[in-house]
Amino acid sequence: VPMTVRSLSEAMGRPAKAIMSILFKEFGEMVTINQIIEEETALAVALELGVDLTFKRQKGAQETVTEIVEMEDAPEDLVTRPPIITVLGHVDHGKTTLVDSLRNSKVVEGEAGGITQHIAAYQIDYNGHKLTFVDTPGHAAFSEMRSRGANVTDMVVLVVAADDGVMPQTAESISHVKASGVPMVVAMNKIDLPDVNEQKVLQDLTAQNVLPSEWGGETDVVRVSALKGTGLDDLLETLLLTAELHELKANPNRPAVGVCLEGFRDEGRGSVAWLIVQKGTLRIGDAVICGKSYGYIRAMYDDMDQQIEEAPPAMPVKVTGLDTVPGAGDHFVVVDDIDQARALAEERRHEGRADVLSRHSGGPRTLEDILGSAREGAIQDLPLIIKADTPGSLEAIRSEIGKFEHPEVRVKILHEGIGGVNESDVYLASASNAIIIAFHVVAEDRAQNLASQEDVEIRRYSIIYEVVDDIRQSLEGLLRPEL
Ligand code: GDP
Repeated sequence: VPMTVRSLSEAMGRPAKAIMSILFKEFGEMVTINQIIEEETALAVALELGVDLTFKRQKGAQETVTEIVEMEDAPEDLVTRPPIITVLGHVDHGKTTLVDSLRNSKVVEGEAGGITQHIAAYQIDYNGHKLTFVDTPGHAAFSEMRSRGANVTDMVVLVVAADDGVMPQTAESISHVKASGVPMVVAMNKIDLPDVNEQKVLQDLTAQNVLPSEWGGETDVVRVSALKGTGLDDLLETLLLTAELHELKANPNRPAVGVCLEGFRDEGRGSVAWLIVQKGTLRIGDAVICGKSYGYIRAMYDDMDQQIEEAPPAMPVKVTGLDTVPGAGDHFVVVDDIDQARALAEERRHEGRADVLSRHSGGPRTLEDILGSAREGAIQDLPLIIKADTPGSLEAIRSEIGKFEHPEVRVKILHEGIGGVNESDVYLASASNAIIIAFHVVAEDRAQNLASQEDVEIRRYSIIYEVVDDIRQSLEGLLRPEL
């Protein structure tokens, strides 16, 4: 069985788009989702994405690749690890305050030396259980990481201010979380204010198809005041329960693999990177490749800026020793020897030009591509993001699309909203391989640029029936039965 981009994507559990973009950057190859790829190429892709691949060969079948699977850690090696949590929500609803107060509430007195240091993520200890919080709140950053194939977040806390309810960025955040499939807990914030309307918040959430558990739904809504520090224990307990339910585990006894959350240059320490370990344990002296950077881990610091020797799964650490500054979303892998790391890093740098080129011509991700893959038989989701000028036109498009029926393709609306196409829409589309339908609206300049960088297709329409006709025609053109 030849290996295609699709089967590799399925085997690794990473988006096909991430694979295609690596193939372009590393090898200058523009491929489609059904393209057959070589084993060596697959291995390079896997390394880039921080996935261990083993190739199952049939004996005697002269190197025939029959199946690829991600190198599984044996179940008995898996140990419960802390959840990695990202905080999302509308501007001014209290994300930053919550992230700060959670951290401050758990900092042991006298230990606060590093508190003013910039951190990309931190870990707190609650009754003997650790939780990791990513300190870059915001749904655009959340989906940007996902579009790089770096799914670090296990759970989301959605902050909704009790005096304001669900606002546009709350709705965007909900769409991003739903598209990611990550479980969510709502923190109803600012309950210390006099004019809060809890019922309205619950109603707003319900209107977004987020049914609160107190109303028989699946989403826990915890009342908090990030400012006063009330309800934080309740929130942490809910998060730990959710984590338990999802059985987050990792093997700590293997070479570390993970993601760079952020990199920067430090006067005294050279290039510094915030890494989060996903599997294995990272140790001082490890040879690491991270994106286009490589080096031995020289020193490691925790979120209190204390020097540490090793970092187990889900622990965020600041490291020095990489030769250059890696980027957010770059995967890192510990390799056997530094030569291997250097060779690969240099190869990637050599391809630096391709990197720039890919901003204009990278992985093909058009309606035709998505629909093309539907030919293979299984029902395909066609994910859409709809932006329109008025609630009326949005409603009309939704109802037209609702009538759309097709035996092989199921249209799935990931997000809809009023107003121009923004960067958040593009990141969501990129992370979910969706197409953006812009009805009577244009894309903001930055969103337009981002869309060409990320190879996201924005289709503009001004007549309602054209939207559905266009989808139908493309489908019919692409899905005509083979003769
Ligand atoms: P962000 O934009 O979501 O990160 O929101 P911030 O954390 O910056 O908070 C926005 C404003 O709301 C700030 O003035 C905070 O002091 C205030 N705020 C945050 N949490 C609370 C809260 O629980 N109660 C009250 N009364 N104000 C809060």
